[in-house]
Amino acid sequence: MPGVYAVGDINGGPQFTYISFDDHRIVLDDLLGEGKRTRDDRVAVPWCAFLNPPLASVGISEDEAAKEDREMRVAKADIAKIAVMPRPKILGNPAGMAKFVVDTKTDEILGATLHCVDSQELINTVAAVMRLGGTAADLRDGIWTHPSSTEVFNGVL
Ligand SMILES: Cc1cc2nc3c(=O)[nH]c(=O)nc-3n(C[C@H](O)[C@H](O)[C@H](O)COP(=O)(O)OP(=O)(O)OC[C@H]3O[C@@H](n4cnc5c(N)ncnc54)[C@H](O)[C@@H]3O)c2cc1C
Repeated sequence: MPGVYAVGDINGGPQFTYISFDDHRIVLDDLLGEGKRTRDDRVAVPWCAFLNPPLASVGISEDEAAKEDREMRVAKADIAKIAVMPRPKILGNPAGMAKFVVDTKTDEILGATLHCVDSQELINTVAAVMRLGGTAADLRDGIWTHPSSTEVFNGVL
C-alpha cells in the first residue's frame, strides 16, 4: 500500500537489530532524502551468535563457494595455534577457530567464519573489506595493534 512502510522484524527479512536500523535508514531516505537507498545496498552482512567465545560469520561458506564452482583456497587455523595472535591466550580464552574462503583468482574474500574472542568485532572488519572491494592480502598485510585479536588476519590469511 503506498505510503505504508514495514520496518524491522515485521517485514519478514533477516531478524537483527542492525537490519531494523538499516530499514529505518531506507525509509528515512525515502521520506526526507534522495530515495536512493535500498536493501540491495546490503552487501556482506555479518552475523554473530554471542556464545563464549562468540561465533561470527559473513559471506558464503566453503560448501556454498564449491556449489558456485568458485576457484578458492581455504585458510583456517585453531586460535590456540596462531602464534602472532596472543590476545585470546592473555584473556584466558584461546578456544575456537578461524576460517576464510578466498577466491584464488582475485584474492577476494568470499566468506569468513570466526569462533574466537572478539569475533563480533573482527567480522565487521572483514565485512568492511569485502564491501569496499578489498582483498585477503589487504587484511593479511595490514599493520594492526598488538596484542589484538585483529592479528588473526596476519596469522591465518
Ligand atoms: C532473545 C533474543 C536475542 C536477540 N539477540 C540479538 C542479537 O544479539 N543481535 C541482533 O542484532 N538481534 C538480536 N535479536 C533480534 C532483535 O532483537 C530484533 O531483530 C530487533 O529488536 C527488531 O527490531 P524491531 O524494531 O523490528 O522490533 P522490536 O524491537 O520487537 O520492537 C517492536 C516494538 O513494537 C511494540 N509493539 C508491538 N505491537 C504493538 C502494538 N500493537 N502497538 C504498539 N506497539 C507495539 C513492541 O512492544 C516493541 O517495543 C534478538 C532477539 C531475541 C528475541
